[in-house]
Amino acid sequence: MSSLISRRSFLKAGLITAGTAAAAGTGLASAIRAADGPKTELCTLLDLNKCIGCEECVRACREINGHKFPEPEGPPPIMRPVERVKTADWSSPEKRTVTDRLTPYNWLFIQRARGEYQGQSFELNIPRRCMHCHNAPCSKLCPFGAAYQLRNGIVRIHPDVCMGGAKCKTICPWNIPERQSGVGLHLDLLPQYAGNGVMYKCDRCYDRVAEGRLPACIEVCPESVQEIGPRNEIVQKARDLAGKTSGFIYGLEENGGTHTIYVSPVPFDVLNQALRKGPGRPQLQPVENVMADANRWIGALAIAPAAGVIGALARFKQTAGQTQKKEDKPS
Ligand code: SF4
Ligand code: SF4
Ligand code: SF4
Repeated sequence: MSSLISRRSFLKAGLITAGTAAAAGTGLASAIRAADGPKTELCTLLDLNKCIGCEECVRACREINGHKFPEPEGPPPIMRPVERVKTADWSSPEKRTVTDRLTPYNWLFIQRARGEYQGQSFELNIPRRCMHCHNAPCSKLCPFGAAYQLRNGIVRIHPDVCMGGAKCKTICPWNIPERQSGVGLHLDLLPQYAGNGVMYKCDRCYDRVAEGRLPACIEVCPESVQEIGPRNEIVQKARDLAGKTSGFIYGLEENGGTHTIYVSPVPFDVLNQALRKGPGRPQLQPVENVMADANRWIGALAIAPAAGVIGALARFKQTAGQTQKKEDKPS
C-alpha cells in the first residue's frame, strides 16, 4: 500500500517522532537540527487541474501561523548607509491584509494565470510559497545559520537568529523570503548597521508536522489539491498523473529538485508568460541548480565564519534570555 499521506492517515504514518516536537520547543535551531526525527524527505504534489482558487488555504495559513508573524514594537530604525539598506515594513493594519503576493504576513498566495494554449483558453490558479528545495541554497549560504533544513526536508528561517540581511532572498531562484524591518536580534546587537529585520516565509507548518498533523493549507483544501508524502513516492505519483492527463511537471529538476512538485495541464513556459510577476510574485521558469555553481557565491561563504561567531553569540544570548519562544509552541 502506498504511504502517500491523506488527511486521515497522516497521523498514523508516524513519519515524525514525538522527539521532534520536543526539540522544536527549545527554540534553538541547532537543537532542532540535531533531533528532528527520521530522515524522510517530505514532498508535496500540487495538481493544478484541481485548484479552484478559493483561497481557503491562504486563510488557513494566516490563521494557523499568525502567532509566528512579526510584531514590531515601534518604527524601524534608520539604517546606515541609508541608500543601501532599505526598510520593509508590512506591519500596518492595511498591509497586513495583503493576500495577492508573498509578504512577512502572507506566506502563501494564489497566483492566477489566464491565456491560450493550443487554441484553447485556460485559467489556472497556482498556490505559491516556498518550494522547500532539496539542496536549499538559502539554508546552505545563510551567514548566520538562521535558515536551515530539517531532516524531513522542511526549510525554515529561525526568527530568533535571522539578522534580516536577505542573503536567502538573493540566492533563492524565486526570491521567496520577505523581510519585516523593526524586529529581530539585530535591534539588540547593531540596530543601525546589521541586517534590518527578519526574513519570513512558509515553514511548511513544521510544528504541526512534528506532531503528525498536516500542514494547514493541505488540511483545509476542499478540492484536495495537495498531497504530502516521501519524495520518491510523490515523484512517482506526479509522473503517473502527468502521464494520465498529458500534463507537465515543475519541481523535479528545478534548483536541483524541490520538495514541491506541480503538475499542470499547460506547459510551464506558457504559464510563466501568463503570470503577473514581480516583488512577492515569483516566476515559474526553468531554474538551474544554484548550489552546482557555489563558487559564484564565494563572497557569501567567505564571510560565513565571522558571521557564524556572531550567530553563535546571538544564539547564546537567546538561550540565556529565554528557554521557550511563543513561535515554537504547537498551534
Ligand atoms: S489549493 Fe485548495 S484551498 Fe487553496 S485555493 Fe486551491 S482549491 Fe482553494
Ligand atoms: S524556494 Fe527559496 S526560500 Fe524556499 S527553500 Fe528554495 S531557495 Fe530556500
Ligand atoms: S505549509 Fe503551512 S506555512 Fe506553508 S503555506 Fe501551507 S499553511 Fe502556510
